[in-house]
Amino acid sequence: MSPFGVYVHVPFCAHRCDYCAFATYADRDHLMDDYVDAVLEEIEWARRDGLEIATSVFFGGGTPSRLAPERLLAILDAIPRTDDAEVTVECNPEDASVERLAAYRRGGVNRMSFGVQSTQPAVLADLGRRHGTMAHVEVAHAVHEVGFDTWNMDLIVGSRAETLLDVERTLDDLLSLEFAPPHISCYALTPEPGTPLGQDPTRHPDEDETADAYDLVGRVLESHGYVWEEISNWARPGHECRHNHVYWEQDDYVGFGSAAHSHRQGRRFWNVRTPERFIAMVRDGLRPLGGEENLDEHTKRFEHDSLALRTSRGVPIEAFASLDEIAHLVRVRDGRVTLAANGRLLANQVIVRLRSAE
Ligand code: SF4
Repeated sequence: MSPFGVYVHVPFCAHRCDYCAFATYADRDHLMDDYVDAVLEEIEWARRDGLEIATSVFFGGGTPSRLAPERLLAILDAIPRTDDAEVTVECNPEDASVERLAAYRRGGVNRMSFGVQSTQPAVLADLGRRHGTMAHVEVAHAVHEVGFDTWNMDLIVGSRAETLLDVERTLDDLLSLEFAPPHISCYALTPEPGTPLGQDPTRHPDEDETADAYDLVGRVLESHGYVWEEISNWARPGHECRHNHVYWEQDDYVGFGSAAHSHRQGRRFWNVRTPERFIAMVRDGLRPLGGEENLDEHTKRFEHDSLALRTSRGVPIEAFASLDEIAHLVRVRDGRVTLAANGRLLANQVIVRLRSAE
């Protein structure tokens, strides 16, 4: 059966982190009930149109754990999925109670993801994160007690408040857990336009320090049995995120909820950005379409190559006219080109050399 992913966007957060540019809101909890009803309606319409059976479902945001578990599970129940579908919920570490996770698990969720970011107080404070420095321990215990086999923790490197020692300590803290996360994502902090971080150049990450921190993360994780999968993702064998592969391999997926993106055979489309508009349009019986584009063959080829190059699959050597100017950023093995460790954060410099970028 072909992979088919379903993404559900939950646009609510307890507070706005000042580096975040996602379509999420800290002042609209009063919309939650109407929002869930609208998402259920949107799924119902899709089912009437022959919604495929999902092999993976991902609740992201925003903070899906802001929803009452029974409301989130009502959405999950409405999504047709295979018996062994991967079902992931992103969860704020502060929401990771045993009761909540147990409710998720009973309801069919089988993978959790937590935005821990760091275990160092100065870094958490600089990122504007509110959870404590022991969140990773509490989360790991709750996950284990409830019995999830697979789960993820997110890290962020690049805060101006972070030293390499902080990164080392964070990794030590995670990897010395009795039940360490089998999947770890690590993102480089990016000053997005329009965010408080973006508007304050004194807090912008130093590129060299961020590269050193990212490099350290890769080296430590890979020496502890994690396999590099994609620029920001490492997994122990058997713990890869199936839903990520849907995106990386250009499979079809559909997104429900405000700002959710979908892809079907080269057509990309997305919903209106705010929950208010989304709810209002669905109530009026209108598809909440915000925009769409059809990818021509050339764009499809370029996206295919650039996504593959970001992963450990890489691309055939023929995808490049020449490697001369990027030889120090890539590795060539068995006729395929992959990013070298020092080329991962500089992937864009390699991607622009693809033949399909011409
Ligand atoms: S919790 Fe996540 S989605 Fe919400 S504001 Fe912070 S970074 Fe953005």
